[in-house]
Parts: sequence; structure tokens; C-alpha cells
Amino acid sequence: MASNVTDETTQDCIFCKIVNGEIPADIVLRGTHTIAFRDISPQAPTHVLVIPRIHIEHAAAVEPNHAEIVVEMLTAAREVAASEEILSKGYRLILNVGDDAGNLVPHLHLHVIGGRAMSWPPG
Ligand code: 5GP
Ligand code: ZN
Repeated sequence: MASNVTDETTQDCIFCKIVNGEIPADIVLRGTHTIAFRDISPQAPTHVLVIPRIHIEHAAAVEPNHAEIVVEMLTAAREVAASEEILSKGYRLILNVGDDAGNLVPHLHLHVIGGRAMSWPPG
């Protein structure tokens, strides 16, 4: 669970607050190490964020001891895709890291986006 909640960064983190129930979110899945909730500004019919319960800043801060958490993020994404009925049609998983990628929230989150056809390369 969010064992580092006393950490300053974590106290100010909006996604840690969602994990702790301090601010509301439309949670679609709760796992041992992760939760998944609908993005407040959806970019497609399905736009869900899968996040670790602990505060990890972004994908570049992932370490080997996070392996179980990261695997659960991927399996949770598949479960979300199945419950949203987009598993067979396909969907996009996105991890934004840093400014050039448009990373706004400094708590690791996997975007699960689907329900419409998408272009490549991304903008
Ligand atoms: P990033 O650009 O950091 O990869 O994505 C952050 C995402 O978090 C954005 O898609 C944004 O709409 C979403 N977001 C930001 N604040 C909130 C919030 O308070 N609640 C929810 N559900 N989503 C949020
Ligand atoms: Zn956080």
C-alpha cells in the first residue's frame, strides 16, 4: 500500500490522493498494487489510467523491485480493455515521461485508450 505517504512529494500528489480516497475518481478496477480510474479529460470513448498504489514518479523511475507492480499494471490494463469490450478491436497503452511527452502528473500512470481508431505516429 502507499507506504511512503509521509513523503512530501507524495502528500502533494493528486494521484496519491485518489489512491488514499482523499479526492474522488471513477475507479473501475482495484488490484493489490494498482488501481484504475477514468481520465477526467477522456481522449477516446475509453480512457482509463492504471496507476501503482505507491508513488513512483514515472516510467524512468521504475526499478527491478517494482516488477510485480509493473506486471500488475499491464494485466490490469488488459482487464480494463476486456470490461470495456475493446480487447478484440485493440487499444493503445501510453506511458508519458517528461516534458516533451507532455507528462503532467508526476505519478506513474498507464493510459488505456480505445474505442476508436487511432493514427500513428502520435502527435
Ligand atoms: P500525463 O499527461 O501526465 O501523461 O497524463 C495525465 C492525465 O491525468 C491526463 O490525461 C489528465 O486528464 C488526467 N488527470 C489529471 N488530473 C486528474 C484528476 O484529478 N482526475 C482524473 N481522473 N484524471 C486526471
Ligand atoms: Zn503519487
